[in-house]
Amino acid sequence: MKRVYDYVVVGGGLAGASAVKGIRELDAAGSILLAGEENHLPYDRPPLSKKLWLGKQKLEDIFLHDRAFYDAHAVTLALGAKVARLDPAEKTITATSGETYGYGKLLLATGCKARTLSVPGGDLDGICYFRGLDDYLHTRGVAAEGKSAVVVGGGFIGSELAAALNINKLHVTMIFPGALLCDRVLPDYLGRAVQQRYAAKGVRILASDKPVSFSKNGSKFITRTEKGETIESDIVIVGIGVIPEMELARSGGLEVGNGIVVNEYLEASRPGIYAAGDNAFFPYQALGQPMRIEHWDHALNQGKWAGRNMAGAHEPFTYQPYFFSDLFEFGYEATGEVDSRLETFADWQKENDTGVIYYLREGKIRGVMMCNVWDKVEAARELIRKGERVTPEKLRGLIR
Ligand SMILES: Cc1cc2nc3c(=O)[nH]c(=O)nc-3n(C[C@H](O)[C@H](O)[C@H](O)COP(=O)(O)OP(=O)(O)OC[C@H]3O[C@@H](n4cnc5c(N)ncnc54)[C@H](O)[C@@H]3O)c2cc1C
Repeated sequence: MKRVYDYVVVGGGLAGASAVKGIRELDAAGSILLAGEENHLPYDRPPLSKKLWLGKQKLEDIFLHDRAFYDAHAVTLALGAKVARLDPAEKTITATSGETYGYGKLLLATGCKARTLSVPGGDLDGICYFRGLDDYLHTRGVAAEGKSAVVVGGGFIGSELAAALNINKLHVTMIFPGALLCDRVLPDYLGRAVQQRYAAKGVRILASDKPVSFSKNGSKFITRTEKGETIESDIVIVGIGVIPEMELARSGGLEVGNGIVVNEYLEASRPGIYAAGDNAFFPYQALGQPMRIEHWDHALNQGKWAGRNMAGAHEPFTYQPYFFSDLFEFGYEATGEVDSRLETFADWQKENDTGVIYYLREGKIRGVMMCNVWDKVEAARELIRKGERVTPEKLRGLIR
């Protein structure tokens, strides 16, 4: 017999766990099922490429809540349960195990999956498409001092992991197709400075290049690149971006595009079904355009918001998320449309190290990155919300 829950949350990540909190803010009694494919309790991903490698956080502290939290909030957990089918007419979901659950309201918080390389050997056992705790545990198990690693990808994940491995005294080679690290976000002057920092730390950088094959020689990986390099390494990690996880939404006939399409209440194209976090394509109010965002603070707040709306709050989503990254000693917080293709104005206190970068379109602030400047996100949000035309003179010294 199928079990029916008032609320079913699919996806045991940050958005899913936050939704539980949102539901419970308004509904203390409704039954909740949280179904997640991973065998772990919901955990934070940012430490997997940062603090855990630097000894700044312990593994047991990355979990968002302990089991007692879910018991105290009367949440039924189905861990290790991949949900394969959605039937909006019957209001049911079905797991790959065959188990079917009924729902009153449903949240798809299925996040993203790692993009893979379709080159010969791209599916070799041991190549790590880094996304989750199991990937961290696997890599940590082999990442001893003196070993060598190839890191494919020059975005957030690749750059953070390359730094983490270098700090742990591995020999690291980075390969990425762009000319500069993190080039979708960092303006070229900053990207160049960050890249120089990596080189100075001993990270070998193969920019404007990409792997064309992987093979194995005993326990070693052999990576060959388009420009003719051959690199032998103990570890290969790939961080080349993610793809929103939408199979379940598709199986239920929901509207999808660059994510699961939701309205301002985070409701998908069928009533009673919501999406939040990395997989949701939603109207970003402050920027006046639909977006999908792959960041921690976004998943935290949008998940909770969706949970509240599932429980009847009916609040349009107005939150302006921020994001952060740490690349060796260079760290930043940023909000809005932080897109290196926009015009930028940098207000440095220390060039390419400490200061604020404004991302402008038609003279208006669309995004702000605060480099080694902390706790100023609210001021940045306010500037974006105002949407006024600005000049460099007006911006200089505005956020310090
Ligand atoms: C290594 C790493 C470092 C990061 N660092 C930063 C950072 O410094 N700053 C920042 O802002 N952001 C960072 N992020 C991004 C941030 O972690 C994500 O934005 C956030 O995890 C998204 O949460 P989510 O719940 O939407 O998705 P996810 O965390 O992807 O969770 C989705 C969950 O749903 C499960 N699932 C998917 N499909 C199904 C299904 N059919 N059935 C059941 N379960 C399913 C998945 O297994 C997964 O557990 C980082 C991400 C990674 C991977």
